[in-house]
Amino acid sequence: MTSAVVTRFAPSPTGYLHIGGARTALFNWLYARGRGGKFLLRIEDTDRERSTPEATAAILKGLDWLGLDHDGKAISQFERADRHREVALDLLAQGKAYKCFSTQDEIQAFRDAAKEEGRSTLFQSPWRDADPSTHPDAPYVIRLKTATEGQTIIEDEVQGTVKIGNDQLDDMVLLRSDGTPVYMLAVVVDDYDMGVTHVIRGDDHLNNAARQMGIYTAMGWPLPVYAHIPLIHGPDGKKLSKRHGALGVEEYQAMGYPAAGMRNYLARLGWSHGDDEFFTDEQAKEWFDLNGIGKSPARLDFKKLENLCGQHIAIAEDASLLAEIEEFLAATNQPALSDAKKEMLGNALFCLKDRAKIFPELIEKAAFVFAERPIAPDEKAEKNLDTVSRGILSELTPHLQNASWSRDALEEVMNTFAEARGLKFGKLAGPLRAALSGRSVSPSVFDMMIVLGREETLARFNDAANG
Ligand code: GLU
Repeated sequence: MTSAVVTRFAPSPTGYLHIGGARTALFNWLYARGRGGKFLLRIEDTDRERSTPEATAAILKGLDWLGLDHDGKAISQFERADRHREVALDLLAQGKAYKCFSTQDEIQAFRDAAKEEGRSTLFQSPWRDADPSTHPDAPYVIRLKTATEGQTIIEDEVQGTVKIGNDQLDDMVLLRSDGTPVYMLAVVVDDYDMGVTHVIRGDDHLNNAARQMGIYTAMGWPLPVYAHIPLIHGPDGKKLSKRHGALGVEEYQAMGYPAAGMRNYLARLGWSHGDDEFFTDEQAKEWFDLNGIGKSPARLDFKKLENLCGQHIAIAEDASLLAEIEEFLAATNQPALSDAKKEMLGNALFCLKDRAKIFPELIEKAAFVFAERPIAPDEKAEKNLDTVSRGILSELTPHLQNASWSRDALEEVMNTFAEARGLKFGKLAGPLRAALSGRSVSPSVFDMMIVLGREETLARFNDAANG
Protein backbone atom coordinates (compact mmCIF):
# COMPACT_ATOMS: atom_id res chain seq x y z
CA MET A 1 0.00 0.00 0.00
CA THR A 2 2.45 2.62 -1.10
CA SER A 3 -0.22 5.30 -1.52
CA ALA A 4 -0.75 5.44 2.24
CA VAL A 5 2.74 6.72 3.04
CA VAL A 6 2.70 9.77 5.32
CA THR A 7 5.93 11.38 6.49
CA ARG A 8 6.55 14.56 8.41
CA PHE A 9 9.20 17.04 9.28
CA ALA A 10 8.90 18.22 12.86
CA PRO A 11 11.40 21.00 13.58
CA SER A 12 11.61 22.83 16.89
CA PRO A 13 11.52 26.55 16.07
CA THR A 14 14.44 27.53 18.26
CA GLY A 15 16.79 28.67 15.49
CA TYR A 16 17.33 28.68 11.75
CA LEU A 17 16.83 25.64 9.55
CA HIS A 18 20.31 24.15 9.62
CA ILE A 19 21.73 21.78 7.08
CA GLY A 20 20.98 18.65 9.13
CA GLY A 21 17.35 19.66 9.51
CA ALA A 22 17.13 20.44 5.83
CA ARG A 23 18.42 16.98 5.01
CA THR A 24 15.90 15.35 7.36
CA ALA A 25 13.14 17.33 5.67
CA LEU A 26 14.45 16.32 2.24
CA PHE A 27 14.57 12.61 3.10
CA ASN A 28 10.97 12.73 4.34
CA TRP A 29 9.90 14.71 1.30
CA LEU A 30 11.60 12.35 -1.14
CA TYR A 31 10.20 9.28 0.57
CA ALA A 32 6.64 10.60 0.45
CA ARG A 33 6.80 12.23 -2.97
CA GLY A 34 8.31 9.14 -4.55
CA ARG A 35 5.40 7.05 -3.32
CA GLY A 36 2.45 9.31 -3.99
CA GLY A 37 2.29 9.89 -0.26
CA LYS A 38 1.98 12.95 1.91
CA PHE A 39 4.68 15.08 3.47
CA LEU A 40 3.46 17.00 6.50
CA LEU A 41 5.01 19.78 8.53
CA ARG A 42 4.66 20.14 12.27
CA ILE A 43 6.23 22.97 14.21
CA GLU A 44 7.22 21.62 17.63
CA ASP A 45 6.70 24.81 19.54
CA THR A 46 5.79 23.42 22.95
CA ASP A 47 8.91 24.88 24.53
CA ARG A 48 7.54 28.39 24.93
CA GLU A 49 10.77 29.81 26.26
CA ARG A 50 12.88 28.78 23.32
CA SER A 51 10.41 28.83 20.42
CA THR A 52 10.14 32.04 18.42
CA PRO A 53 7.98 33.13 15.49
CA GLU A 54 11.15 34.35 13.77
CA ALA A 55 12.59 30.83 13.87
CA THR A 56 9.34 29.41 12.49
CA ALA A 57 9.46 31.97 9.69
CA ALA A 58 13.11 31.12 8.94
CA ILE A 59 12.29 27.41 8.77
CA LEU A 60 9.35 27.98 6.43
CA LYS A 61 11.47 30.23 4.26
CA GLY A 62 14.30 27.71 4.14
CA LEU A 63 11.96 24.89 3.15
CA ASP A 64 10.41 27.11 0.54
CA TRP A 65 13.77 27.98 -0.95
CA LEU A 66 14.70 24.31 -1.08
CA GLY A 67 11.43 23.54 -2.82
CA LEU A 68 10.28 21.11 -0.13
CA ASP A 69 6.56 21.75 -0.25
CA HIS A 70 4.39 20.20 2.42
CA ASP A 71 0.81 19.01 2.23
CA GLY A 72 -1.86 20.88 4.12
CA LYS A 73 -1.28 23.51 6.76
CA ALA A 74 1.75 23.51 9.03
CA ILE A 75 0.60 22.21 12.39
CA SER A 76 1.48 23.91 15.66
CA GLN A 77 2.15 21.35 18.36
CA PHE A 78 1.49 23.85 21.12
CA GLU A 79 -2.02 24.47 19.85
CA ARG A 80 -2.81 20.78 20.28
CA ALA A 81 -2.05 20.66 24.00
CA ASP A 82 -5.69 19.89 24.91
CA ARG A 83 -5.62 16.81 22.73
CA HIS A 84 -2.33 15.67 24.30
CA ARG A 85 -3.85 16.12 27.75
CA GLU A 86 -6.92 14.13 26.67
CA VAL A 87 -4.72 11.15 25.74
CA ALA A 88 -2.91 11.28 29.10
CA LEU A 89 -6.27 11.28 30.89
CA ASP A 90 -7.47 8.45 28.69
CA LEU A 91 -4.44 6.39 29.71
CA LEU A 92 -5.16 7.25 33.33
CA ALA A 93 -8.77 6.11 32.96
CA GLN A 94 -7.58 2.87 31.35
CA GLY A 95 -5.27 2.22 34.28
CA LYS A 96 -2.24 2.47 31.99
CA ALA A 97 -1.04 5.60 33.69
CA TYR A 98 -1.23 6.77 37.27
CA LYS A 99 -1.13 9.83 39.45
CA CYS A 100 2.21 10.24 41.18
CA PHE A 101 2.35 12.54 44.19
CA SER A 102 6.06 12.21 44.88
CA THR A 103 7.73 15.57 45.37
CA GLN A 104 11.06 16.54 43.83
CA ASP A 105 12.65 16.11 47.25
CA GLU A 106 11.29 12.61 47.62
CA ILE A 107 12.50 11.67 44.17
CA GLN A 108 15.95 13.01 44.99
CA ALA A 109 15.99 11.12 48.28
CA PHE A 110 15.04 7.93 46.39
CA ARG A 111 17.92 8.45 43.98
CA ASP A 112 20.43 9.21 46.71
CA ALA A 113 19.47 6.07 48.61
CA ALA A 114 19.58 3.95 45.45
CA LYS A 115 23.02 5.26 44.64
CA GLU A 116 24.24 4.51 48.13
CA GLU A 117 22.92 0.97 47.90
CA GLY A 118 24.29 0.47 44.38
CA ARG A 119 20.84 0.03 42.83
CA SER A 120 19.52 1.64 39.66
CA THR A 121 18.74 5.28 40.28
CA LEU A 122 15.75 5.21 37.93
CA PHE A 123 12.87 6.48 39.99
CA GLN A 124 10.26 3.92 41.02
CA SER A 125 7.19 5.70 42.19
CA PRO A 126 5.45 4.35 45.29
CA TRP A 127 2.18 5.53 43.72
CA ARG A 128 2.25 3.16 40.78
CA ASP A 129 -0.04 0.62 42.36
CA ALA A 130 -1.49 2.77 45.14
CA ASP A 131 -5.18 2.56 45.88
CA PRO A 132 -6.81 5.85 44.74
CA SER A 133 -8.52 6.09 48.13
CA THR A 134 -5.07 6.76 49.60
CA HIS A 135 -4.40 9.69 47.22
CA PRO A 136 -3.73 12.95 49.04
CA ASP A 137 -5.18 16.28 47.98
CA ALA A 138 -1.88 17.46 46.59
CA PRO A 139 -0.25 18.25 43.24
CA TYR A 140 0.57 15.24 41.09
CA VAL A 141 2.02 14.32 37.75
CA ILE A 142 0.63 11.59 35.52
CA ARG A 143 3.12 8.84 34.74
CA LEU A 144 2.95 6.04 32.21
CA LYS A 145 3.04 2.53 33.65
CA THR A 146 6.01 1.28 31.72
CA ALA A 147 6.61 -2.46 31.44
CA THR A 148 9.16 -3.43 34.06
CA GLU A 149 10.32 -6.64 32.45
CA GLY A 150 11.36 -7.67 28.99
CA GLN A 151 12.72 -5.47 26.26
CA THR A 152 11.60 -2.70 23.99
CA ILE A 153 12.72 -3.62 20.51
CA ILE A 154 13.03 -0.94 17.88
CA GLU A 155 13.08 -2.35 14.37
CA ASP A 156 14.82 0.57 12.78
CA GLU A 157 15.19 0.78 9.01
CA VAL A 158 18.63 2.33 9.35
CA GLN A 159 19.99 1.22 12.70
CA GLY A 160 18.66 -2.34 12.48
CA THR A 161 17.23 -4.04 15.55
CA VAL A 162 17.87 -2.00 18.66
CA LYS A 163 16.98 -3.58 21.99
CA ILE A 164 16.54 -1.66 25.20
CA GLY A 165 15.88 -3.44 28.48
CA ASN A 166 12.65 -2.17 30.02
CA ASP A 167 14.43 -1.95 33.35
CA GLN A 168 16.30 0.97 31.75
CA LEU A 169 13.10 2.93 31.25
CA ASP A 170 11.36 4.68 34.10
CA ASP A 171 7.68 5.52 34.30
CA MET A 172 7.85 8.65 32.24
CA VAL A 173 5.83 11.69 33.09
CA LEU A 174 3.04 12.40 30.59
CA LEU A 175 1.42 15.40 32.24
CA ARG A 176 3.24 17.78 34.53
CA SER A 177 1.71 18.92 37.80
CA ASP A 178 0.56 22.13 36.11
CA GLY A 179 -1.37 20.01 33.61
CA THR A 180 0.93 20.66 30.65
CA PRO A 181 1.76 17.66 28.46
CA VAL A 182 5.38 16.65 27.97
CA TYR A 183 7.03 16.82 24.59
CA MET A 184 7.37 13.04 24.23
CA LEU A 185 3.61 12.56 24.58
CA ALA A 186 2.91 15.39 22.15
CA VAL A 187 5.10 13.79 19.46
CA VAL A 188 3.32 10.46 19.66
CA VAL A 189 -0.20 11.88 19.76
CA ASP A 190 0.53 14.21 16.87
CA ASP A 191 2.17 11.54 14.76
CA TYR A 192 -0.79 9.23 15.40
CA ASP A 193 -3.43 11.89 14.69
CA MET A 194 -1.61 13.04 11.57
CA GLY A 195 -1.54 9.46 10.31
CA VAL A 196 2.26 9.41 10.10
CA THR A 197 3.41 6.03 8.82
CA HIS A 198 7.17 6.67 8.63
CA VAL A 199 9.24 8.60 11.14
CA ILE A 200 12.52 9.58 9.51
CA ARG A 201 14.64 11.75 11.80
CA GLY A 202 18.07 12.22 13.34
CA ASP A 203 19.51 9.35 15.37
CA ASP A 204 19.71 11.65 18.37
CA HIS A 205 16.04 10.67 18.74
CA LEU A 206 16.66 6.91 18.84
CA ASN A 207 16.38 6.72 22.61
CA ASN A 208 13.18 8.72 22.48
CA ALA A 209 11.73 6.11 20.16
CA ALA A 210 11.87 3.49 22.92
CA ARG A 211 9.89 5.75 25.24
CA GLN A 212 7.50 6.84 22.55
CA MET A 213 6.78 3.22 21.68
CA GLY A 214 5.53 2.71 25.24
CA ILE A 215 2.82 5.30 24.60
CA TYR A 216 1.82 3.74 21.27
CA THR A 217 1.57 0.33 22.89
CA ALA A 218 -0.45 1.59 25.86
CA MET A 219 -2.90 3.30 23.50
CA GLY A 220 -3.07 0.26 21.24
CA TRP A 221 -1.94 2.36 18.28
CA PRO A 222 0.07 0.87 15.41
CA LEU A 223 3.74 1.84 15.46
CA PRO A 224 5.18 3.90 12.62
CA VAL A 225 8.18 2.66 10.67
CA TYR A 226 11.28 4.19 12.23
CA ALA A 227 14.38 5.34 10.37
CA HIS A 228 16.93 7.15 12.52
CA ILE A 229 19.54 8.74 10.32
CA PRO A 230 23.12 9.46 11.39
CA LEU A 231 24.18 13.02 11.94
CA ILE A 232 26.21 15.04 9.47
CA HIS A 233 29.87 15.56 10.30
CA GLY A 234 32.33 18.19 9.15
CA PRO A 235 34.90 17.43 6.42
CA ASP A 236 37.34 16.34 9.16
CA GLY A 237 34.91 13.76 10.54
CA LYS A 238 34.21 15.78 13.65
CA LYS A 239 30.84 16.94 14.84
CA LEU A 240 29.49 19.70 12.66
CA SER A 241 30.20 23.17 13.91
CA LYS A 242 29.46 26.58 12.49
CA ARG A 243 32.97 26.74 11.08
CA HIS A 244 32.24 23.55 9.16
CA GLY A 245 29.10 24.75 7.48
CA ALA A 246 26.51 24.09 10.18
CA LEU A 247 24.81 27.14 8.80
CA GLY A 248 21.24 28.06 8.22
CA VAL A 249 20.11 27.09 4.73
CA GLU A 250 19.49 30.75 3.97
CA GLU A 251 23.24 31.22 4.20
CA TYR A 252 23.71 28.60 1.52
CA GLN A 253 21.16 30.49 -0.53
CA ALA A 254 23.09 33.71 0.04
CA MET A 255 26.31 32.02 -1.09
CA GLY A 256 24.51 31.34 -4.37
CA TYR A 257 24.02 27.59 -4.41
CA PRO A 258 21.08 26.65 -6.62
CA ALA A 259 18.32 24.81 -4.79
CA ALA A 260 18.34 21.84 -7.18
CA GLY A 261 22.07 21.31 -6.58
CA MET A 262 21.54 21.61 -2.87
CA ARG A 263 18.79 18.98 -2.97
CA ASN A 264 20.98 16.64 -5.00
CA TYR A 265 23.89 17.10 -2.62
CA LEU A 266 21.84 16.75 0.57
CA ALA A 267 20.23 13.59 -0.79
CA ARG A 268 23.70 12.13 -1.28
CA LEU A 269 24.70 13.12 2.21
CA GLY A 270 24.11 9.82 3.94
CA TRP A 271 22.11 8.12 1.22
CA SER A 272 23.32 6.43 -1.92
CA HIS A 273 21.99 4.79 -5.03
CA GLY A 274 24.81 2.80 -6.56
CA ASP A 275 27.49 5.14 -7.83
CA ASP A 276 25.08 7.87 -8.85
CA GLU A 277 26.27 11.31 -7.76
CA PHE A 278 24.40 13.61 -10.06
CA PHE A 279 20.68 13.16 -10.44
CA THR A 280 17.47 15.09 -10.94
CA ASP A 281 14.60 15.43 -8.48
CA GLU A 282 12.60 12.97 -10.54
CA GLN A 283 15.35 10.37 -10.28
CA ALA A 284 15.81 11.02 -6.56
CA LYS A 285 12.10 10.55 -5.93
CA GLU A 286 12.13 7.33 -7.88
CA TRP A 287 15.27 5.95 -6.25
CA PHE A 288 15.09 7.15 -2.68
CA ASP A 289 14.62 4.36 -0.19
CA LEU A 290 15.40 3.81 3.46
CA ASN A 291 17.76 0.93 2.83
CA GLY A 292 20.10 3.21 0.88
CA ILE A 293 20.77 5.25 4.02
CA GLY A 294 24.17 4.55 5.57
CA LYS A 295 24.77 3.85 9.21
CA SER A 296 27.76 6.08 9.69
CA PRO A 297 27.78 9.87 9.73
CA ALA A 298 28.15 11.55 6.35
CA ARG A 299 30.82 14.20 5.88
CA LEU A 300 30.21 17.59 4.37
CA ASP A 301 32.19 18.11 1.21
CA PHE A 302 31.91 21.56 -0.32
CA LYS A 303 33.79 20.59 -3.48
CA LYS A 304 31.22 17.97 -4.21
CA LEU A 305 28.40 20.36 -3.43
CA GLU A 306 29.80 22.94 -5.84
CA ASN A 307 30.41 20.39 -8.50
CA LEU A 308 26.83 19.14 -8.36
CA CYS A 309 25.54 22.70 -8.30
CA GLY A 310 27.46 23.47 -11.48
CA GLN A 311 25.88 20.50 -13.20
CA HIS A 312 22.42 21.57 -12.11
CA ILE A 313 22.93 25.11 -13.35
CA ALA A 314 24.03 23.64 -16.67
CA ILE A 315 20.87 21.58 -17.16
CA ALA A 316 18.42 24.13 -15.74
CA GLU A 317 15.72 25.58 -17.98
CA ASP A 318 16.55 29.19 -18.81
CA ALA A 319 13.31 30.57 -17.40
CA SER A 320 13.63 28.89 -14.03
CA LEU A 321 17.33 29.69 -13.86
CA LEU A 322 16.58 33.35 -14.49
CA ALA A 323 13.90 33.31 -11.80
CA GLU A 324 16.34 31.75 -9.36
CA ILE A 325 19.03 34.31 -10.15
CA GLU A 326 16.51 37.07 -9.46
CA GLU A 327 15.64 35.39 -6.16
CA PHE A 328 19.34 35.23 -5.34
CA LEU A 329 19.79 38.92 -6.09
CA ALA A 330 16.84 39.78 -3.84
CA ALA A 331 18.03 37.48 -1.04
CA THR A 332 21.43 39.13 -1.07
CA ASN A 333 20.06 42.68 -1.26
CA GLN A 334 21.47 43.32 -4.73
CA PRO A 335 19.64 45.58 -7.15
CA ALA A 336 16.88 43.90 -9.13
CA LEU A 337 17.34 43.41 -12.88
CA SER A 338 15.74 45.96 -15.16
CA ASP A 339 13.46 44.45 -17.80
CA ALA A 340 16.10 45.07 -20.47
CA LYS A 341 18.90 43.43 -18.45
CA LYS A 342 16.64 40.57 -17.56
CA GLU A 343 15.91 39.91 -21.19
CA MET A 344 19.56 40.17 -22.10
CA LEU A 345 20.62 37.87 -19.27
CA GLY A 346 17.97 35.39 -20.33
CA ASN A 347 19.42 35.47 -23.85
CA ALA A 348 22.94 35.05 -22.49
CA LEU A 349 22.28 32.02 -20.31
CA PHE A 350 23.13 29.60 -23.10
CA CYS A 351 26.78 30.69 -22.97
CA LEU A 352 26.99 31.09 -19.18
CA LYS A 353 25.23 28.19 -17.61
CA ASP A 354 27.78 25.51 -18.24
CA ARG A 355 30.54 27.71 -16.82
CA ALA A 356 29.36 28.47 -13.31
CA LYS A 357 29.00 26.42 -10.13
CA ILE A 358 27.24 29.05 -8.09
CA PHE A 359 25.29 32.19 -8.93
CA PRO A 360 27.96 34.77 -8.05
CA GLU A 361 30.24 33.04 -10.51
CA LEU A 362 27.56 33.11 -13.19
CA ILE A 363 26.93 36.79 -12.54
CA GLU A 364 30.64 37.48 -12.71
CA LYS A 365 30.79 35.79 -16.11
CA ALA A 366 27.74 37.79 -17.16
CA ALA A 367 29.61 41.04 -16.51
CA PHE A 368 29.22 41.97 -20.19
CA VAL A 369 25.45 41.94 -19.69
CA PHE A 370 25.48 44.01 -16.53
CA ALA A 371 28.02 46.54 -17.71
CA GLU A 372 26.82 49.95 -18.86
CA ARG A 373 28.38 51.96 -21.67
CA PRO A 374 30.97 53.32 -21.80
CA ILE A 375 32.51 50.14 -20.48
CA ALA A 376 35.39 50.74 -18.11
CA PRO A 377 38.02 48.08 -18.91
CA ASP A 378 39.83 46.44 -16.02
CA GLU A 379 43.62 46.58 -15.91
CA LYS A 380 44.23 43.49 -18.01
CA ALA A 381 41.59 44.42 -20.56
CA GLU A 382 43.07 47.89 -20.82
CA LYS A 383 46.29 46.37 -22.18
CA ASN A 384 44.32 44.91 -25.06
CA LEU A 385 43.08 48.32 -26.04
CA ASP A 386 46.27 50.01 -27.13
CA THR A 387 46.38 52.42 -30.08
CA VAL A 388 46.88 49.67 -32.66
CA SER A 389 43.97 47.65 -31.33
CA ARG A 390 41.73 50.67 -31.23
CA GLY A 391 42.63 51.34 -34.87
CA ILE A 392 41.69 47.81 -35.79
CA LEU A 393 38.37 48.20 -34.00
CA SER A 394 37.45 51.30 -35.98
CA GLU A 395 38.37 49.58 -39.20
CA LEU A 396 36.28 46.56 -38.32
CA THR A 397 33.12 48.40 -37.40
CA PRO A 398 31.92 49.26 -40.93
CA HIS A 399 32.23 45.60 -41.92
CA LEU A 400 29.69 44.71 -39.26
CA GLN A 401 27.22 47.45 -40.13
CA ASN A 402 25.39 45.38 -42.67
CA ALA A 403 26.48 41.85 -41.76
CA SER A 404 23.70 39.47 -40.95
CA TRP A 405 23.71 38.96 -37.19
CA SER A 406 24.17 35.22 -36.91
CA ARG A 407 27.06 33.38 -35.45
CA ASP A 408 28.14 31.89 -38.78
CA ALA A 409 27.93 35.18 -40.63
CA LEU A 410 29.83 37.04 -37.91
CA GLU A 411 32.55 34.42 -37.84
CA GLU A 412 32.93 34.75 -41.56
CA VAL A 413 33.17 38.54 -41.47
CA MET A 414 35.76 38.44 -38.71
CA ASN A 415 37.87 35.77 -40.30
CA THR A 416 37.88 37.53 -43.64
CA PHE A 417 38.77 40.79 -41.92
CA ALA A 418 41.59 39.20 -39.93
CA GLU A 419 42.98 37.36 -42.95
CA ALA A 420 43.01 40.53 -45.07
CA ARG A 421 45.24 42.09 -42.44
CA GLY A 422 47.42 39.06 -41.97
CA LEU A 423 46.16 38.68 -38.40
CA LYS A 424 45.16 35.54 -36.56
CA PHE A 425 41.67 35.77 -35.10
CA GLY A 426 43.25 35.19 -31.71
CA LYS A 427 44.94 38.57 -32.03
CA LEU A 428 41.63 40.18 -32.67
CA ALA A 429 39.80 38.44 -29.86
CA GLY A 430 41.56 40.25 -26.99
CA PRO A 431 40.59 43.79 -28.06
CA LEU A 432 37.07 42.69 -29.02
CA ARG A 433 36.60 41.01 -25.66
CA ALA A 434 37.91 44.06 -23.85
CA ALA A 435 35.63 46.36 -25.82
CA LEU A 436 32.53 44.23 -25.24
CA SER A 437 33.02 43.18 -21.62
CA GLY A 438 35.82 45.30 -20.16
CA ARG A 439 37.43 42.00 -19.12
CA SER A 440 40.17 39.72 -20.33
CA VAL A 441 38.09 36.65 -19.53
CA SER A 442 34.54 36.36 -20.78
CA PRO A 443 32.27 34.14 -22.83
CA SER A 444 33.20 33.87 -26.50
CA VAL A 445 33.26 37.11 -28.48
CA PHE A 446 30.67 35.76 -30.92
CA ASP A 447 28.33 34.70 -28.15
CA MET A 448 28.57 38.15 -26.60
CA MET A 449 27.90 39.83 -29.93
CA ILE A 450 24.81 37.70 -30.50
CA VAL A 451 23.50 38.46 -27.02
CA LEU A 452 24.20 42.18 -27.20
CA GLY A 453 22.85 42.64 -30.73
CA ARG A 454 24.20 44.81 -33.50
CA GLU A 455 23.47 48.21 -32.08
CA GLU A 456 24.96 47.67 -28.64
CA THR A 457 27.95 45.74 -30.07
CA LEU A 458 28.85 48.47 -32.51
CA ALA A 459 28.35 51.14 -29.87
CA ARG A 460 30.77 49.36 -27.53
CA PHE A 461 33.32 48.96 -30.35
CA ASN A 462 33.01 52.65 -31.12
CA ASP A 463 33.40 53.61 -27.48
CA ALA A 464 36.57 51.53 -27.24
CA ALA A 465 37.95 52.75 -30.56
CA ASN A 466 37.53 56.36 -29.54
CA GLY A 467 38.35 55.84 -25.87
N1 GLU B 1 11.50 18.48 17.14
C1 GLU B 1 12.53 17.51 17.04
C2 GLU B 1 13.79 18.19 16.56
O1 GLU B 1 13.73 19.28 16.03
C3 GLU B 1 12.19 16.38 16.08
C4 GLU B 1 11.29 15.38 16.70
C5 GLU B 1 10.93 14.24 15.80
O2 GLU B 1 11.27 14.26 14.60
O3 GLU B 1 10.27 13.34 16.31
O4 GLU B 1 14.84 17.63 16.71
